[in-house]
Amino acid sequence: MGLGGFGGGVGAVRFLAEAGAKVIVTDLRSEEELRPSLAQIDPAWPITLRLGHHAEADFRNSDLVVVSPAVPKNSPYLAVARDAGIPLTSEMNLFWERNRGRVLAITGSNGKSTTTALTHAILSGLRVPCSPGPCGLDDSIQSQNQPSHKGSDYRRCWLGGNIGISLLPEVRQIQPDDWVVLELSSFQLEDLAPLRPQPEIAVATNFSPNHLDRHGTVEAYRAAKQNVLSWQTAEQFAVVNSLSEVATWPTAAIRLRFGPADEKQFGVFGEGLEVMARMPSEPSRELRIPLRRWLRLPGTHNWQNAQAAIAAALAAGATLEAIEKGVSNFRGLPHRLEFVAEVHGRRCFNDSKSTTPEATVLALQSFDEPIVLLAGGYDKQIDLSAIAATAVTRCRAVALLGQTGPQLGTLIEQAARAANVTGPICRGFESLAPAVAWSLQESVPGDIVLLSPGCASYDWFQNYIERGEQFAALIEQAASGSDTA
Ligand code: ADP
Repeated sequence: MGLGGFGGGVGAVRFLAEAGAKVIVTDLRSEEELRPSLAQIDPAWPITLRLGHHAEADFRNSDLVVVSPAVPKNSPYLAVARDAGIPLTSEMNLFWERNRGRVLAITGSNGKSTTTALTHAILSGLRVPCSPGPCGLDDSIQSQNQPSHKGSDYRRCWLGGNIGISLLPEVRQIQPDDWVVLELSSFQLEDLAPLRPQPEIAVATNFSPNHLDRHGTVEAYRAAKQNVLSWQTAEQFAVVNSLSEVATWPTAAIRLRFGPADEKQFGVFGEGLEVMARMPSEPSRELRIPLRRWLRLPGTHNWQNAQAAIAAALAAGATLEAIEKGVSNFRGLPHRLEFVAEVHGRRCFNDSKSTTPEATVLALQSFDEPIVLLAGGYDKQIDLSAIAATAVTRCRAVALLGQTGPQLGTLIEQAARAANVTGPICRGFESLAPAVAWSLQESVPGDIVLLSPGCASYDWFQNYIERGEQFAALIEQAASGSDTA
């Protein structure tokens, strides 16, 4: 139920079909919308497609319903399955029940994918890496993750989960010695609760209200995230952000903290030029890591992500050499403050992955230059005033996008009035192309043009990838015009 576009649905279908199951794939989206995922389904598999709608009978007559984490728990079709006594599961639960590898699980409100990919990059350099076959939509993530030494004797490090890669079809190849670096969303963690997950190393990057449209309350969302730590045992590790409430979330595991100031505890601390690591395996040793020199990603938030990844990797036994190699070769993930092109002296960045106000605030704080911001999108009923307050001090102009555009415009006006300043020029748009054209016009050479919506994309786009790709295409088009001009 729910094929989706982020790899999990396709992974589940592949696993079940290869295991000999007859699979019905049902999704409210149309064949057209699901094309990229459908293209990854082998026509030889015994599959029935039920697209554009669900049929109650499918939920009554199946032996198992594999539910996408995106499906609301109050879906009437789930009720039909429950009433008929049909067991419900998810792609991640199927994986978790079968996985023999050592799990390093990463969650949090922001920074999950970056931290996950960086941790994987470090651990892959620890021994000879080996990675899963193609699955998942985000090709650029996948290509950083191509198998290089498949079949070697070395311990391998796998990357998967919410980052857009399903490891379920690979699960039998994962050996007990292998590391499995998994990004887990709150929805996946909510579904995992009955299995009482005990990741050997858990990372909680931070916590802020998000996805309230789906979880209903902050408490439910927090409880889902806490599942990553709740059942850990005393010899396991919990990597937590010392600046966030996650630092105090209950766990029996050894806490490794990360943050700006040395807390004389275990973890990774520091800001500025270097960080210092102190680990329980060698409590009296302070390992110095020249992070400023190694880390290529902009922004304090990426410094925090790197600290979290280093702490987790050290807990997994990473060497300083593996950390240097992993961190300094890491270019960041697409759609996260990704540099696209320069147009007439304006440097343009695609931060389409920013779907929360905090992410947009951090993007705005990552630059010293004046910014023309493109923000707004689908309404998740989150307070956008933090974007407004930061935009007033950092932005020359703001192009307002999507459902939340008008609301954001009003908040910016109010914030400017409260701060007794003129505030950025704001204009609302009905589509992306004119918003990009206007942003380039309103900016001057030396400025930053930044797509960092702070909202989900579902009102105008299929997902943040499509939004970011369209933005990048428009910028590249303008850049090629600016070359010839
Ligand atoms: P996630 O997987 O949790 O969505 P990503 O690593 O994909 O996080 O980053 C998405 C966006 O979130 C980034 O572009 C950035 O704007 C913001 N972000 C990244 N790391 C952090 C962090 N540690 N704290 C706050 N915001 C962050």
